Amino acid sequence: MAASVRRVPGRLTAPEPGWTTRADVVIVGSGIAGLTAALRLREHVDKVLVVTKDVLAAGSTQWAQGGIAAALGPGDTPGQHEVDTLVAGAGACDPDAVRVLVNEGPDAVRELIALGANFDHDEQGDISLTREGGHHRDRIAHAGGDATGAEVQRALNAAVAAAPDIEVVQHALAVDLLLDAEGGVAGVTLHVIGEGVRDGVGAVHCRAVVLASGGLGQVFQQTTNPSVSTGDGMALALRAGATLRDLEFVQFHPTVMYLGPHSLGQQPLISEAVRGEGAFLVDFEGNRFMQGVHELADLAPRDVVAKAITRRMHETGHPHMWLDGRHLGAELWERRFPTILATTRSHGVDPVTELIPVAPACHYASGGVRTDIDGRCDVPGLYATGEVACSGVHGANRLASNSLLEGLVFSRRIAQVLPGELRPWSEPAPDRRTPGLVSGGMRSELQEVMTSRVGVLRTADGLAEAAVLLDKIGAVQTEVVGVEAWETTNLLTISTALAEAAALREETRGSHWREDFPERDDERLAGHFDATMDDGATTLTFAPAPASDGVAR
Ligand SMILES: Cc1cc2nc3c(=O)[nH]c(=O)nc-3n(C[C@H](O)[C@H](O)[C@H](O)COP(=O)(O)OP(=O)(O)OC[C@H]3O[C@@H](n4cnc5c(N)ncnc54)[C@H](O)[C@@H]3O)c2cc1C
Repeated sequence: MAASVRRVPGRLTAPEPGWTTRADVVIVGSGIAGLTAALRLREHVDKVLVVTKDVLAAGSTQWAQGGIAAALGPGDTPGQHEVDTLVAGAGACDPDAVRVLVNEGPDAVRELIALGANFDHDEQGDISLTREGGHHRDRIAHAGGDATGAEVQRALNAAVAAAPDIEVVQHALAVDLLLDAEGGVAGVTLHVIGEGVRDGVGAVHCRAVVLASGGLGQVFQQTTNPSVSTGDGMALALRAGATLRDLEFVQFHPTVMYLGPHSLGQQPLISEAVRGEGAFLVDFEGNRFMQGVHELADLAPRDVVAKAITRRMHETGHPHMWLDGRHLGAELWERRFPTILATTRSHGVDPVTELIPVAPACHYASGGVRTDIDGRCDVPGLYATGEVACSGVHGANRLASNSLLEGLVFSRRIAQVLPGELRPWSEPAPDRRTPGLVSGGMRSELQEVMTSRVGVLRTADGLAEAAVLLDKIGAVQTEVVGVEAWETTNLLTISTALAEAAALREETRGSHWREDFPERDDERLAGHFDATMDDGATTLTFAPAPASDGVAR
């Protein structure tokens, strides 16, 4: 099963590099994945350079609320964590990658604590663990109540600041990879905004690149992701010859605060942990509609909850449902969820006395740049970790709080293998890929197309329309080079492959919901859709793999 999709630019139009520099390893991104890799690699590599599009803390890591999942509590084991992860992944996980995640997870979290991250503790001084959707054990470590990501990012930033041998360049957007004559990594082009000699577009020659550039939430109109999550790393890797896998598996978080139909971009998340503490969903009549839908009711896996909310919204014609956490009481709200409490109040809703309006919004890219269990991609010298990667741990649906863990675990693994396989320095070969640039003015139209036709609900007709409309958007080229156009071109590149993968996956599995194919189809579709590109022409290929959720069928 293979389908060619329309052309997008083979590389981004950009000025010739005005400056060059060198580093053994360039890490693109400064969230949990990028900084963990940097801190580990510096022990074995002469020069590590971290480049990041905005300030260090601009990525999703800073926003993570619920926490990090790891089998740290009494009675819990990596084996139980493995089962929950495989079940949530709906048969599409890589079992080897999941085993690595759950077995190495507890040590990776302990190391993060040793690095200085302050997690919450109970009265006995043990680490506090809570439960989130899809977990059968209390295994989510959290910090500052619901400010886990901010604490993790703070601790990592501090550790990097204390490591003078790690060079960091902020406001530096990675544009494209430089490839040598063998198609391996020879460097990366960067656009640096701000003061300093390295202003404008330049080139960093290097022996390896670690992509840690996060997700693609900005493909959709409403997302929990920050503005930097424009899928740059995925698009750049695809253009360079890497494979993107499982792009159709985009997780829509069920409980994102609904701020009205005209509220676009990043929206406030109401963490699953709020339901973990006892809050529940109700419709406009006060019915607890999750009961009877799944044995875990309000704590069912995210896709189940998102679908149930969306179904109820459609049935009742309302643009959102409600989350009732009034019975949790002011003390618990203030202690466990100070950030969410402040956010909802700032939007005029007091969850201690009022229901919170919620609706699903794009939250997490389970797919991304295909890697092996050591973070290697198909391009020699290219590695990927964190949300940009598809390591195989999430399958069709990420289990809550497994993503921070993925960044920790797989960045550690990259740091173990990369130094021993560093390639010799090589010269960039002449770039024969066709340059192009989609007008930045097309971004909102693109987001509308993706939300209305490739969002929570998908059908063959909608996906076919999306392909045509994306084509038209891609035809609106511009000569105005800059961040807006680069990001929009990246969004289009990812959207085109994502929509095609969603069209080819004629089944409902995990977070991919086809209204016209409501059942999971292991006979035909156990496996993955892989996107590859040749000078802007993307091909999707089906790679069969046995269903891996351990459920006998
Ligand atoms: C609101 C919210 C709540 C969440 N809660 C949880 C949770 O409780 N538990 C959990 O496990 N996960 C949670 N997640 C998911 C988790 O936060 C992310 O998956 C994880 O932080 C990703 O880490 P990362 O390092 O891969 O990417 P990010 O933290 O997103 O970092 C990406 C970095 O790449 C940079 N970048 C992007 N493009 C470029 C470019 N072209 N050039 C240079 N730099 C670039 C960005 O600026 C950023 O520094 C949540 C996500 C959100 C948005």
